[in-house]
Amino acid sequence: MDDCIFCKIANGEIPTEKVYEDDNVLAFDDINPVAPVHVLIIPKKHITNIMAIDKDNMEIINNIFTAIPEIAKKLGVDKDGFRLISNCGENAGQTVMHLHFHLIAGTKLGEKII
Ligand code: 5GP
Ligand code: ZN
Repeated sequence: MDDCIFCKIANGEIPTEKVYEDDNVLAFDDINPVAPVHVLIIPKKHITNIMAIDKDNMEIINNIFTAIPEIAKKLGVDKDGFRLISNCGENAGQTVMHLHFHLIAGTKLGEKII
């Protein structure tokens, strides 16, 4: 995807401080953090959002979820806890159309919607 900002971050075209990286997954700080810890976890391969998950990319999705506890430990938020959010589509307010999970932590988080 030529015009996708997260593809550019994943392929190194836009330099970013990496929090975590493996063959399929990259994690980096959100440019506009809403909490002391706000990391974005993305597949390196372009997947639009949760609605584009299928059995062909299941290995990558599996890899993301396997990485999450490791990332949480690395960030030192595994004991106190964190929130994981993925906005999917217009009503959720997804602004970057490349699958990403927000890992938010480092303080008592605000009111939960659910
Ligand atoms: P969404 O609203 O799609 O769930 O989340 C997109 C997130 O990407 C936002 O929290 C926004 O701050 C972050 N973001 C947008 N552009 C960039 C960028 O160039 N670098 C980084 N690190 N984060 C970005
Ligand atoms: Zn992309």
